[in-house]
Amino acid sequence: MNVTFWNKEVETMSRGGIEQLQVSRMQQRIADALKTPFYQHRLARAGISSPQQFRSLSDMQKLPFAAKDDLRQNYPTGLLAVAMEQVVRIHSSSGTTGIPTVIYLAQEDLNAWTDLLARSIVATGCTRKDVFQNMMSYGLFTGGLGLHYGAERVGMTVIPVGGGNTQRQIQLMKNFKTTVLHITPSYLLHIHSRLNEFKTRPQDLHLKKAFLGAEPYSENTRLKLEELYGIDAYNSYGLSEMNGPGVAFECVYKQDMHLWEDAYILEIIDPATGQPLPDGEKGEVVLTNLVRSAMPLFRYRTRDLAFVHPEPCPCGRTHRRLSRIQGRTDDMLIVNGVNVFPSQIEEVIMSIPEVGTNYMIHLARVGSLDKLTVKVEIYSKMFTGELNALDALKNRIRDRLRALITINPSIELHEPGALPVFEGKAKRVVDEREKL
Ligand code: AMP
Ligand code: ZN
Repeated sequence: MNVTFWNKEVETMSRGGIEQLQVSRMQQRIADALKTPFYQHRLARAGISSPQQFRSLSDMQKLPFAAKDDLRQNYPTGLLAVAMEQVVRIHSSSGTTGIPTVIYLAQEDLNAWTDLLARSIVATGCTRKDVFQNMMSYGLFTGGLGLHYGAERVGMTVIPVGGGNTQRQIQLMKNFKTTVLHITPSYLLHIHSRLNEFKTRPQDLHLKKAFLGAEPYSENTRLKLEELYGIDAYNSYGLSEMNGPGVAFECVYKQDMHLWEDAYILEIIDPATGQPLPDGEKGEVVLTNLVRSAMPLFRYRTRDLAFVHPEPCPCGRTHRRLSRIQGRTDDMLIVNGVNVFPSQIEEVIMSIPEVGTNYMIHLARVGSLDKLTVKVEIYSKMFTGELNALDALKNRIRDRLRALITINPSIELHEPGALPVFEGKAKRVVDEREKL
């Protein structure tokens, strides 16, 4: 395997070196935080009045956690640590609740973030020879602009098309011989289902790689996309509160994502007690940004569930790897008393070859019972008029799901294109139970 580095010294730094850097950067961030209305109070309550009081990483435990609500309640400037004229970029979360949150970046912060993205891109084996089609939406969402600047820094040819308009996406891929995509897994699945319509086969494209992120997806979805397009797909993790993408990214080995520990402090906690969990145990991802001066944020509770791989990666990078996101502390569905994660359902249905590229989970209440319906699109070749075959497929999907989640879902089979399409983050779950 051909391993290339963007900044070998940092990417292969010893554990001691990383930890030393983390402590000194934490001290800088505490100095920034003491200038914000939000942290002045909070740090005083935690007994911290100067950066020097932070001496080692175990002092992280003294700092309070932060959550999305803190950002909302302190909107717009409660966490701003510099004069507004120092701010060169504002981003905002895609949160669906309607109350906005804002992220501020000074020029040095933007440089540091862009550098992390360049590092991530190079870790997947991309070079300046690649043609990069960025299909994530631009604007306040961090996915578009984040990767855009990282790719330019690497020197790739960047096509800043943004999300949506499948026909144009396919046209651009063909005209400019795009080699690398940045896209949500659900949209890449959807594009495949429409290639025919535009008289295009995957092998007519020049794709080699895709960076997939912004929403949860399973390993089986990755494998399926790799096979459908004949590409390597790399997992990309980030969240606006930590700037956006570039928090953790897979290297050429594709064995989970290096979390860039010179720039972020990663903790995994038990979401119920807040206590730290050892490497290898699944819990809530908690992150601290070490390279953002305009807006400090310590121990941010992401609500994402994952675990850490401490073993060294064959690529030689020393930054520990974060597993695929296994769900969220808050997307768990409780169906007739049973806890179900949408990611489990996806894992099962995407392993069934007849299943196409889109699915939905629907919850309703019938009497006093919850009814779970899984709607899946299947390949059109299955609709041959052979009802027996369809029934058998339905039963097979139902049995596989029941074996895993212990409840009995109804299965609906749909023709390709019948279910709603999402060009940004997919909304796979429709829960109509509250309305009844
Ligand atoms: P946003 O702040 O709008 O960028 O959303 C960030 C959230 O998207 C994260 O907290 C995750 O829940 C989700 N997300 C981002 N990347 C991934 C990924 N690779 N796998 C699973 N979920 C992801
Ligand atoms: Zn690696």
